[in-house]
Amino acid sequence: MKNTSEDSNSRESQTLDPADWSEMRALGHRMIDDMIDYVAGIGERPVWRPMPPEAKNFFRKDIPTEPQPIQKVYEDFKAHVLPYPVGNLHPRFFGWVQGNGTMMGAFAELLAATMNPNSWGGDQSAVYVERQIIKWMKELVEFPELASGVMVSGASVATLLALAIARKKYGSPHIRDRGMIGETGAMRIYCSVEAHNCVQRAADVLGIGRSNVVMIPTDAKRRIDVEKLKSAIQTDRKSGHKPIAVVGTAGTVGTGAIDDLEAISRVRDVEDLWFHVDGAIGAVGKCSKRLAPLLKGMETADSIAFDFHKWMFIPYEAGCVLVRDGRLHQETFSNPAAYLATMDGGVTPPSEHFFNDYGLELSRSMKGLKVWMSLKEHGLDRFAEIIEQNVDQAQHLAELIRNEPELELTGTGALNIVCFRFIGPDKTEEFLNGLNKKLLVAIQESGVAVPSPTVIDGKFSLRVCITNHRTKWSDLDLLIREVLSQGRKIMDRPLRQ
Ligand SMILES: *Cc1c(COP(=O)(O)O)cnc(C)c1O
Repeated sequence: MKNTSEDSNSRESQTLDPADWSEMRALGHRMIDDMIDYVAGIGERPVWRPMPPEAKNFFRKDIPTEPQPIQKVYEDFKAHVLPYPVGNLHPRFFGWVQGNGTMMGAFAELLAATMNPNSWGGDQSAVYVERQIIKWMKELVEFPELASGVMVSGASVATLLALAIARKKYGSPHIRDRGMIGETGAMRIYCSVEAHNCVQRAADVLGIGRSNVVMIPTDAKRRIDVEKLKSAIQTDRKSGHKPIAVVGTAGTVGTGAIDDLEAISRVRDVEDLWFHVDGAIGAVGKCSKRLAPLLKGMETADSIAFDFHKWMFIPYEAGCVLVRDGRLHQETFSNPAAYLATMDGGVTPPSEHFFNDYGLELSRSMKGLKVWMSLKEHGLDRFAEIIEQNVDQAQHLAELIRNEPELELTGTGALNIVCFRFIGPDKTEEFLNGLNKKLLVAIQESGVAVPSPTVIDGKFSLRVCITNHRTKWSDLDLLIREVLSQGRKIMDRPLRQ
């Protein structure tokens, strides 16, 4: 008979672990040093620079089939990836709504990826980290103890989950099995014209349909017009539609406006609807004593979507949804399977939490660790200070714009967003729109700052969103100087489009 154990002792095993751990250790130390230098010196480089064609061509190579030295792999990263970000770590990055991340957040990602837990559930620490984050956030937004929550990639997915729960609650009892077949009347979701397009996207994938998202006009402060909301619901009921949810926004993506969440809450009480708050930007403002009153009513919502990766500066991706009715949340997503069964003990006892019952993902990274470590590093009050500083900086910028005759403030809200444009004497709207488009590109290409585009009441505008813990007050003066100098330069040249 063959001696199998001797056989396997002499057989060479293949692995992806390094053959030489000390070489990997040296490279790892170098990476950490380089990344610290990179972040510490971020403000000394241009915010953004275009990727030259050579750099883009590098990404056309075929899939490697042979091993390469680890140093070479890292050099490729340093030469072709690291130099060409969109720029969101920079103190003068003001585009869209992007966070800057933190060093501790980055290190937490290294730790999380090294542990590499699948955070779907079971008796493991990753689950406890995330549960603690959910508990802390529930307390912050004043949600009841029986509320539930789950971390997701961002507020888009968080809103999708929330509206799926609304669909389950207001749909027929068989909706999870039969889909929309058998529903009487089109389900309708209400939000303001300023709401984020993730609401339509959710309606689309949930089979509700984008045209069943009713976009309600806004008032002078760009908040949902609650009277118009009420009459839209009435009109829909009369036409045989089925209103299921209203989405209030805590910090619109256009101007940072906050809907009157208390008023929406009262509409929900009268009309029996799901009240979802899209707090992607603003919900974390609850940690600031100064901003919390603006969010009054959020605590009455049925669900809240928000992002840690925006105004809490946690590295991407880190979003979250909180749901008042934890049981309904679980009933909407749980999907038993033989290979996921709980056991009487072991790794998967029934007493432990299973996050895959609360969302769409089964395999899930440990998104909670970077939040957990960052909250410990800085404490919640420090985040409140930074958020308040950004709001003050936005107000300061608006003031600088008001004081410049060549600039026009086109929109600003209660938070951190300021929209404006360069104006010349006696110019048509069409001319100004063309001019400001060129101006935005010129500023981005100068490397001095990155604002992003938006259109407010037909006026093409530069949009500055200060979700940035690195922005200094002097960065705003520099931005204005650059806008004026580039704007004048473009004015002096005839515009050709
Ligand atoms: C960014 C944003 C979203 C989408 O969030 P993601 O994290 O990008 O998925 C939704 N609503 C508002 C108001 C936002 O600013």
